[in-house]
Amino acid sequence: IIELKHLKKNFGENEVLKDISTTVNKGQVLTIIGSSGSGKSTLLRCINLLEKPTDGQILYKGENVLQKGYKLPEYRTHLGMVFQSFNLFANMDVLENCTTGQTTVLKRKPEEAKEIALKHLKNVGMDQFVSAKPAQLSGGQMQRVAIARALCMNPDVLLFDEPTSALDPEMIGEVLKTIQDLAETGLTMVIVTHEMSFARDVSDRVIFMDQGLIAEEGEPTELFDHPKEARTQEFLKRIR
Ligand code: ATP
Ligand code: MG
Repeated sequence: IIELKHLKKNFGENEVLKDISTTVNKGQVLTIIGSSGSGKSTLLRCINLLEKPTDGQILYKGENVLQKGYKLPEYRTHLGMVFQSFNLFANMDVLENCTTGQTTVLKRKPEEAKEIALKHLKNVGMDQFVSAKPAQLSGGQMQRVAIARALCMNPDVLLFDEPTSALDPEMIGEVLKTIQDLAETGLTMVIVTHEMSFARDVSDRVIFMDQGLIAEEGEPTELFDHPKEARTQEFLKRIR
């Protein structure tokens, strides 16, 4: 559904993404692992064009979204993003967090938006908290609301940037479980994570990034149990 071809991103002299080519297949879960600073977040941010790639192509359903005249606002509505730090609207309650994008961007009627929001909040187990403000929730609860909010926009692809890194250990499980349930619905997802056992369980494919390059890519059992590259072996040894 998304294909990256020779994607590059520089910040000044710093070549953060050097030559990234890969495919995100429809209905599959792709996880991205790698050391801090290897370019994982930058890659996600390039995919949804929060950052403009320096060079290369991003094909969405076969069309290069970086070409002149391509409808970028529309492309963005097909992608959802869940951040490490939740990024909920602090001044809105849980329900409003989930309806505002629907009514403003997708032009849905308020009643319809509310119905869809309640459905997704129920799926993540947060329908009891519709009137709560983000500050009244735990980190795990906030992240589940952020996931529901993203789902309300009917994304074709959902991107996660370390969705559990800001959470207390006792809350990590509930969020990973939520993501795992979503994977089983056949939603296409790209997940940057440091949770290796989760990555092994949830992924169809895993990418190991090192210094702005894909050092190794493969099925989870293959990559975790029989890494081919010395860099992958070292990384996995360090993180275990
Ligand atoms: P982490 O695991 O710590 O989240 P990461 O793999 O997500 O790391 P990135 O955040 O993509 O790494 O950063 C890769 C490199 O790009 C770093 O050297 C960082 O300093 C640089 N970088 C990222 N964003 C910017 C920016 N907006 N301006 C300049 N440099 C940036
Ligand atoms: Mg990052």
